[in-house]
Amino acid sequence: MPRPLVILLVALAIPAALPAQADSTTGPDPIGQLVARLDLERYKATIKGLTRFGDRRQGTDRNRAAVDWIEAQLRSYGCSNVARLKYDYQPPSPPSPGGRGGQGVRPAAGGGRYRGIRAGTGVNNDSLKQPDTRLRALDAQTSAPGEREEVYCNKIGTTHPEEMYIVGGHMDGIGWGEAANDDGSGTALVMELARVFSGPDVRTERSIRFILWNNEETGLNGSRAYVEQRRGLQGSAEEPKWLGMIQHDMMLFDHGMPRADGTLPPEQRPEADVNIEFQGSAKFAAEAQELAWVFERANEKYATDYPASIGSHMTNTDSAPFQDYVAAISLRENERGTQIGAGWDPNWHQPTDLYATYSDKDFRLGLNAAQTTLAAIAGLVGAVIK
Ligand SMILES: [Zn+2]
Repeated sequence: MPRPLVILLVALAIPAALPAQADSTTGPDPIGQLVARLDLERYKATIKGLTRFGDRRQGTDRNRAAVDWIEAQLRSYGCSNVARLKYDYQPPSPPSPGGRGGQGVRPAAGGGRYRGIRAGTGVNNDSLKQPDTRLRALDAQTSAPGEREEVYCNKIGTTHPEEMYIVGGHMDGIGWGEAANDDGSGTALVMELARVFSGPDVRTERSIRFILWNNEETGLNGSRAYVEQRRGLQGSAEEPKWLGMIQHDMMLFDHGMPRADGTLPPEQRPEADVNIEFQGSAKFAAEAQELAWVFERANEKYATDYPASIGSHMTNTDSAPFQDYVAAISLRENERGTQIGAGWDPNWHQPTDLYATYSDKDFRLGLNAAQTTLAAIAGLVGAVIK
């Protein structure tokens, strides 16, 4: 009897993973009601608000002003226990010339294989490539080493406040643009989820931490600092036990593979998807894969427009420092290694990463990722509306 056995094993493996089912005798599905509290215009407005601080490069006044603004927004939503993690950041000395080999034959970051047409990638460090002189001036202050801060807040669980999921995105950017997609789009997603879960009528059994990492672009330093400072505190009054970590990094742009001439199609492709990645080499790869499928099922049920697909090469984002300690996944517009790394996003770390670059079809992909994470987390923490 293979079929019932398989169903039984799945049920045993992931009891908390199934979204709470609506009971037709007790009213409408609370997860669907919560997802309906997200909307495209609010998501866009939050991204737009972040772009007022330019590229938000770490170690600058505009970065600190953005942290202050994010904190004020989180407080206005009623999110609980708003706090900051502090750490010191000293940039490494520059690499010696000739230390890095050619890229042509190496596998993609994260372990995947490149397929098809590739276009160039890189980080723009030339201010003069930003034609907008107002934005060029806004992005002009250089980074100074020293103390850094990153802000977080909590939804506190009613029956298991001592256990939490961590929902993150990085608020710093680079490239002499507005970092609208990388990672205003992920930061805004986390902020919108903090708003919905902080609604006065929303109850959850378990806790959620919403956190906006700093120093992602310098090598995940903000999330590494969090893991170093807090990993050993789990289970104490200071730090709930980690149940999972979900990162959001570049949520908007899935126009497909570069064309033969290296350019990208101008419109979001209709078959765009939300890419959920775990890292197959992580100590918690099995648990992370289970978590990824919870998100895929949540997408199937609740996301309005775009599907989700799962890959095993999560890399180069703030979930990586967590991956050997807890189930960790990332959500993105494309796979980081084999697609973004192959030039699928021409605005990545470029002066063109501006709010004005993206259309509603782009913003809607980010909204669908927000619907996916909100629905998955709502099921995992046992959310209800009172
Ligand atoms: Zn990023």
